[in-house]
Amino acid sequence: MEINTKNIFTEALPSDSKMENSRRQVTHACFSYVTPKKPSNPKLIHVSDDMIKTLGFSDKDVSAQKFTEILTGATTLKNTKPYAMCYGGHQFGHWAGQLGDGRAINLFEVVHNEKVWTVQLKGAGETPYSRNADGLAVLRSSIREYLCSEAMYHLGVPTTRALSLALTGDQVLRDMLYDGHPEYEKGAIVARVSPSFLRFGSYEIFAARQDHSTLKTLVDYTIAHHFSHLGKPSKENYIQFFSEVTERTLKMIVHWQRVGFVHGVMNTDNMSILGLTIDYGPYGWLEGFDFGWTPNTTDKEHKRYRYGNQPQIGLWNLYQLANALYPLIEETEPLEQILEGYKTGFEEQSLAMMKSKLGLHNKHTADQRLIQDLEKVLLATETDMTLFFRNLGHFKKRNAKTGLEIVKVAFYVPNEVSGQIAQEWRDWFKRYDDRLQNESLTDKQRQSKMNQVNPKFVLRNYMAQLAIDDAEQGNYDLLNELFQLLKRPYSEQPKYEKWFKKRPDWARHKVGCSMLSCSS
Ligand code: AMP
Ligand code: MG
Repeated sequence: MEINTKNIFTEALPSDSKMENSRRQVTHACFSYVTPKKPSNPKLIHVSDDMIKTLGFSDKDVSAQKFTEILTGATTLKNTKPYAMCYGGHQFGHWAGQLGDGRAINLFEVVHNEKVWTVQLKGAGETPYSRNADGLAVLRSSIREYLCSEAMYHLGVPTTRALSLALTGDQVLRDMLYDGHPEYEKGAIVARVSPSFLRFGSYEIFAARQDHSTLKTLVDYTIAHHFSHLGKPSKENYIQFFSEVTERTLKMIVHWQRVGFVHGVMNTDNMSILGLTIDYGPYGWLEGFDFGWTPNTTDKEHKRYRYGNQPQIGLWNLYQLANALYPLIEETEPLEQILEGYKTGFEEQSLAMMKSKLGLHNKHTADQRLIQDLEKVLLATETDMTLFFRNLGHFKKRNAKTGLEIVKVAFYVPNEVSGQIAQEWRDWFKRYDDRLQNESLTDKQRQSKMNQVNPKFVLRNYMAQLAIDDAEQGNYDLLNELFQLLKRPYSEQPKYEKWFKKRPDWARHKVGCSMLSCSS
């Protein structure tokens, strides 16, 4: 292999002294060395050409059998030692204690073009952190992570990446709906890539155990390797560090709101310290615009992680991180100020984001109101978010009357857009048109700018499910088609027009298309 591997994380940080894979509490250590499970018949299904280049693999590397073996845990590269990271987390609002990489195994870091990347296998077997589960992943959840993380990247949303998708050749038992009907499914492994897989929970675990010495070691490591512009460790720079994590988290969530992505499990163990979208589980994409929607059946009752609550949860999670960092800072005020700043930052960034979706660039006092009223009428009947905003780009100034016509394909039940609701739409388009008089761009220029923030193609829940259904039968054409399509989500791509459509009716209540559980 021509890649330049390193063991930066494991060489710098304290390790668990035990070497066996038994489930246990691991203290005073950031990770445990582990051995991936040998897959019985590993086969690569897909590789990301982008990530191949990013990591510096040659074409020869990729076609070698060894490439498949490494990315499925069948062999390990010379001079590398796989490991699982120790972390804790707040799950659904409650402290859950030690969690850790229960089904993720980090292989090594790769240095290429002066960037450092960690390569991690998801689904490569048990670790000390697997608790009562098997450390494995199935094909359906692996396809979802593989496609979505790359799609998010191309949408311009900060995210971990995916390098490859492989079958292990083993069968994995899963009770998909938690209803007492487990079935065997194909085992799979996604090789994920990120500058770091550290999470809020990586710091929380040491604070919870009052192990302030390891906490400091890990924070200093994080700053030195991932926030090195902040300089040498000190109280001030811990505060600066928290401030930057806050900013990045906020930015990421505003992007989610922009494209209609719902993470589904925003527990603190799923919050990257780098502000990247991480751990694609029961995530989903808004079809009908709906602040109350969550794809996660496990969260059906309280909908803690619903679309409209994501910004609030980001803040709640940052409070947990602030508590974890407190022992190193010992002052609440600067932390509170930063958290206050998140609230005002959200108001500002959210407004700017929504304005950009509407093609509004100048300042106007009534913008907030115009947006709120749009949201109100969008919620009045089921309206496809992606189709609505993309088509709004076709609006021409001084043509308020054509507004409804331009967006009507976005309505799931067109008949409902009559009477009072139709009137509200007409009123809104009239105000929108008046507001556009304050803008200097031509219709064409405005549309072109809107098209850079309003994607034409997102990974609708049913699209991923169709690719999964085919892949279960050994056909990966659709997987590849979606992979290619989602590389250019803002482009027209006429040959893929069929994916610029509302969710079909059959998908409304189908498992995988509207309901997803954590069990994957
Ligand atoms: P998640 O909510 O998927 O991010 O997972 C929460 C915790 O459960 C993490 O510590 C995961 O590593 C662990 N986990 C999830 N699925 C499995 C599995 N199949 N085997 C072992 N651990 C798992
Ligand atoms: Mg997780």
